[in-house]
Amino acid sequence: MSEQRFWHPFADMRSIVANGELVIDRGQGSHVFDTAGRRYVDATASLWYCNVGHGRGEIADAAAAQMRRLEAYSTFGDVANRPVLDLAERLAGFAPVDEPRVFLTSGGSDSIDTAVKLARRYWQARGERDRTLVVSRTGSYHGMHLAGTSLAGIEPNRAGYGVLMQGVDSVPWDSADALGELIAAVGPERVAAFFCEPVIGAGGVFHAPRGYLAKVREICRETGVLFVADEVVTGFGRVGSWFASERFGLDPDVIVCAKGITSGYLPLGAVIAAGRVAEPFFDGTVGMWRHGYTYSGHATVAAAALANLDVIEREGLLARARSLELELAGALRPLETHDLVTEVRVAEGVLAAVQIDPAAIAADATLPARAVAAARSAGVMTRSLATGAIHVSPPLVITTDELGELADGLRKALDEVSGHPA
Ligand code: PLP
Repeated sequence: MSEQRFWHPFADMRSIVANGELVIDRGQGSHVFDTAGRRYVDATASLWYCNVGHGRGEIADAAAAQMRRLEAYSTFGDVANRPVLDLAERLAGFAPVDEPRVFLTSGGSDSIDTAVKLARRYWQARGERDRTLVVSRTGSYHGMHLAGTSLAGIEPNRAGYGVLMQGVDSVPWDSADALGELIAAVGPERVAAFFCEPVIGAGGVFHAPRGYLAKVREICRETGVLFVADEVVTGFGRVGSWFASERFGLDPDVIVCAKGITSGYLPLGAVIAAGRVAEPFFDGTVGMWRHGYTYSGHATVAAAALANLDVIEREGLLARARSLELELAGALRPLETHDLVTEVRVAEGVLAAVQIDPAAIAADATLPARAVAAARSAGVMTRSLATGAIHVSPPLVITTDELGELADGLRKALDEVSGHPA
């Protein structure tokens, strides 16, 4: 047995033990540095979360000050703390849902679990006890708790666990008609909620076909199915507005978010429900909702979130993201002519994927991993997504020069792997 004690998430530990690990030591802006001092452009904002960039002293200071005053105190029952109340107020101020109510969690998967339970409990409270089915899209990623694993549209993420959560179904990611047909087939009175990433992230960065989002929203409205926008990736500026729901005019019943809410400085998730959905939980119908997490409403985490939101506002990062999406397209599109690349997916938002030729991947499954390794050697930290595409979603503070550095590094990496077959 090896000496390796840290068990990496989403990793083949045999390969980590054989090949070692990369230890990241510090970060500044759009760059991170390893323990040997090597510098990398952070092409993915870590795991889609570091929207304000690394090394923000003011977020650290806000967290430290709060921790000295009161690190945290359980918010079960009637107890609150100032940062949490302020954060709920702040989120409610810009969340594009009617009469928002904010339920805090420790991350995206917690929030998905919460949203699934919220939807089912809501329908029970409304007396529609058969409305339990939750529907997701092929290619979707909704975190790795049991509910999220059950909803997973990336098939390998569901495999190997036996029977998962019951009452889940899935529809093709790009067909609004398929959703309408499924709801009609099972009966609207059995469908609780539709979970929808406004832009599919981990599944490979797929922007919805034109008209798709408006149509599925309308289908949900007509059939009473709750529309849950999973904005774990798309929230907090990634798509050029606080939430993609605003940009796409979705008027969701529930928003699930995490990641950019703190830019990752501390772990946090939130479920923001429209007042109409929260109502039975607020008017006494449900009574005590027996749901919550130890760190739902953690004071220090909320203080970090508030400082992060301050940075986004003060530096105009929503507007910056709008101009950055054009720059990102300009920087990455030329890669489309590369022999190994079939498509560069860029559209709304600072998130993109450089698709390595699926036929080449079918012939050599190591290609995406080798491209990622070569990018790292060229000074760009990235990873491959579900379709074998290279993930690009840099911090929203990335400069034009740094974007150039990113695109150059990716081109070098693609040249390197196409010149050196495995
Ligand atoms: N939903 C989406 C769309 C995500 O991309 C993720 C994580 O990447 C999650 C949910 C789960 O979030 P977490 O990893 O914080 O639990």
